[in-house]
Parts: sequence; structure tokens; C-alpha cells
Amino acid sequence: MTSLIKHMVDLTGHRDHMMLDMSVISAVQELSGASQTRMLGILLTRDNLFVRPRATTQNGTLPAVDQAHEADQPGEPIANYPALAECIAQHHTIAEQTTPDGITVWLPIWVNDKVNACLEITNPSPYDGQSIQVIEGVVSVYRNFQNLLDYSERDSLTGLLNRKTFDDQLARMLATNPDSGELTTANDERRVQAALEEQWLVVIDIDHFKRVNDEFGHIYGDEVLILIANLMSSSFRSQDRVFRFGGEEFVVLLRATTLENATKIVERFRRNVEAYPFPQVGCITVSSGFARIRSFESPVVILGHADQALYYAKTHGRNLACHYDELVSTGLLQAEKSSDDVEFF
Ligand code: GH3
Ligand code: MG
Ligand code: MG
Repeated sequence: MTSLIKHMVDLTGHRDHMMLDMSVISAVQELSGASQTRMLGILLTRDNLFVRPRATTQNGTLPAVDQAHEADQPGEPIANYPALAECIAQHHTIAEQTTPDGITVWLPIWVNDKVNACLEITNPSPYDGQSIQVIEGVVSVYRNFQNLLDYSERDSLTGLLNRKTFDDQLARMLATNPDSGELTTANDERRVQAALEEQWLVVIDIDHFKRVNDEFGHIYGDEVLILIANLMSSSFRSQDRVFRFGGEEFVVLLRATTLENATKIVERFRRNVEAYPFPQVGCITVSSGFARIRSFESPVVILGHADQALYYAKTHGRNLACHYDELVSTGLLQAEKSSDDVEFF
């Protein structure tokens, strides 16, 4: 098997975005003999583009995930990469710049007029046209495959992440949770910060949604689901993850935030829904329950806690956002061992 086909087999065998990044930069590095290959994330924050390295390989070493990406840092302004900035502004597919290390080539990954990643290759000498063509071909396969993966992770009605993706992401969050004991005592400052900024799981259920279907029909019901999904995308932060869990039930993973902020964020979403004029249907409300994600607890237990808080909201007037620990500490809810069959409304 030629090297190119071997790399294509490896690339298309992955079911994870990060592994796809690793695979494409390994392929490009080997096929082009570059001194360094990087996958850069291109992020749009308040109308400004930022560049954040996602994975890097150097001198034939295995690619590694970049720290900034792991830590969810915003990255550098695109102005630090003038040739790439110009290339994206002009909607071009390739940019080059001569640097003290040789020549750097950027290949932005375009999807429907938007760019959210870019391959960067640095080499001591310029590439010939044929090498560039091979690299462009590899990048196209990578782009198509990322799209396919993205499609399989999303719910077709709302475009939110689906239930299957939730299981993977929660497992990943539990594995990287700071209270998993990975920190060293030398890292005291980080430890204090990590203790304050925790991860939260929120379950959200639309109130009396059956009535919407009964009174206005399924099409209007679907429209409400799409509008609520849009409100979620605008109410939660870019680092949070929003999932459609089932029918009219949603789950949000809130990353690295204090209890005070988590409460504000969940409450803000409740108010945004309450204030939104749903065409024809009028006022819709949601109830939510949220719980802290502790790495020593299983996903079923964490979901069970959030679900108990949601149940409390549903049985105490609806249109409420309730925090599990607070309900337990004030005696409003009995801490009980969660069973395996978590039931939503
Ligand atoms: P509660 O406040 O207790 O949550 O009441 P509810 O009416 O929202 O809850 P219930 O579980 O009784 O009803 C949920 C309804 O959601 C029933 C189902 O027909 C509807 N539903 C589920 N998925 C979809 C969907 O994809 N589209 C539409 N239009 N309706 C859906
Ligand atoms: Mg409901
Ligand atoms: Mg429900």
C-alpha cells in the first residue's frame, strides 16, 4: 500500500475530531517532509478572529495536543498572522509567507463560506506544485470527514449536539475534571482556582409542551423546539456544550465556572425563554435542574441529581431553575441514592 493510501485509511478510521487533527497533520508531515505541521483552530469571538493551535508535530515526532486548546484559552488575534488574515478575508484557499525558518504555507479549511480551522506547514524550502496538490487533496478528505463527523454528532431538527455525543463529552469532562486529583501541591494557585471553577450539568425541560402540540399542531411544536435551541445557543457561553437529549428535553454542560455564575447563567436562560414572544404560541417557559459534576460520581448519578432538582421545579410551579445541592442542604430535597433508570418528564 502506498504511503498516501495508508494515511487515508488511518484518517477515515477515526470517529473523534481531535484524532482526525492528529491523523491529518501526521499524514501531511510525512508526505511533505515538513519541519513542522500544525492544525490551528480559527475562532470567531465578538466579530474578531483568533488563532489557537490545536495540535502540532515537529521533526517527525508524534503530534501533540496543544496546551492552549486543552485549557480553552482564546488564542492570538489573527493580526499576528497577516498572510493568513489576508487569505481568509479574500476567501482564498492557500497563503504563503517566507520566514526565518523557511516558508510557511496555510491552508484554511472552508466549510460553507466559513473557516474554523487551518492547516499550517513550515518547511526550510518552498514546495513544488505537485506536492501542494497532494497536500490540498489530503486536506479536502480531512474537511469532508470532519463534516461527516459533525453531522453524525448533531440532532437534525435543532442542530444541537445529540444524546450520543453527550455521553462522550461527559466522559471526557469527568476524565479532565480538576478534582480528579491530577494537580500537584506545587500548583496551589491553580488548585484554588480549580476548586472555585467547577463543571455543572443542567437538565432543561419545556413546561406543558404537550399543550403546544395539542393546541397548535406538531409543526408549531417543532418551531418552538428550534427557537428554544437558538435561545440556548445565544444564552450559554461558547465553552459550554448544549445537547438535545430527547423530545423536549435538553442538557447543558457548563464548563469551569463558579456556583454563583452557573446559577446566573441558568437563570438568565430561564428569563430569556419566558420573555421571548413565540410566534402564534405566545409564552413558553422552561424548568431546569442543575448539579455539580464531581469526577468520582458516575454520569448516571450526576444526571440523577440534576433530574431530581428538575422534578422539584416541575412540582413547585414550573418556570424555575433549581440547584440540587441547595435543595438538599435546605432540606427541601432528600439526598437519595440514584437508581440506574433516570427518568425525565
Ligand atoms: P411538563 O411540564 O410536565 O414537562 O409537561 P409536558 O407536556 O412538557 O411533558 P410531556 O412529557 O407530557 O409531553 C412532552 C411532549 O413533547 C409529548 C410529545 O408529543 C412532545 N414531543 C416530543 N418530541 C417532539 C418533537 O420532536 N416535536 C414535537 N412537535 N413534539 C415533540
Ligand atoms: Mg416538558
Ligand atoms: Mg419531558
